[in-house]
Amino acid sequence: MTAGVDLPVPASALAIGAHPDDVEFGCGATLAKWARAGCVVHHLVCTDGSKGSWDPSADLAELVALRQIEQRDAAKALGATGEVAFLGWPDGELESGVRQRWQVAYWIRRLTPTVVLGHDPWQRYRLHPDHRHAGFLTVDGVVAARDPHFFPEQALPHHRPAALLLFEADEPDHVEVVTGADAERKLAALESHRSQLRSTMFVEEGSPGYEEQLDAFRSRVRDRLAEHGALAGVALGEAFKAITDL
Ligand SMILES: [Zn+2]
Repeated sequence: MTAGVDLPVPASALAIGAHPDDVEFGCGATLAKWARAGCVVHHLVCTDGSKGSWDPSADLAELVALRQIEQRDAAKALGATGEVAFLGWPDGELESGVRQRWQVAYWIRRLTPTVVLGHDPWQRYRLHPDHRHAGFLTVDGVVAARDPHFFPEQALPHHRPAALLLFEADEPDHVEVVTGADAERKLAALESHRSQLRSTMFVEEGSPGYEEQLDAFRSRVRDRLAEHGALAGVALGEAFKAITDL
């Protein structure tokens, strides 16, 4: 099966990630492409990112504050002009209960995105619970936001997005075609998460192998974009499971 290609550029998009940096990994090039075409791009990050360090003596309050700054820098690097919101749940302890769903539905109703993007909660053998829960919150949040009888105390009009794109998809069936320039913006956004260079990107600042490690990281990201693009017969892309009957 050849994947479907390119939704119409949405007026606005809300990308929901478990941690600061997940959105950039999952759909950064797509968001950069849409932002360039006039789409208002918003970020919603579910956890505080406080486990994102290999240093046992790291100051975690400092880390949380730093990761928020990095996330805002990353959004800017993508060209995003919308909100960057944080739910602030403790990293590693995210749940997909009614309280969290309430919050996600609230942000969907408040920002009224045309397209919502998030982790695929049905990706098999996914280990990290936050990614699984953030995926369920994305899907369940869309369902709650679209129906007027969910959470009426929010006193916001219900909102039904036109499409939901799930990244890290178990069964991708849709590709957003991106350019080399979009790929570069995705890389710049990923590298804005400087506190994650070591633990997530395997790049050690100040080490003799720094340049080589950074090149290897960039190659991995570009290779992934090429693999995803190949699903639709194009050079570069980001693959998703698309749900459009919302
Ligand atoms: Zn993550």
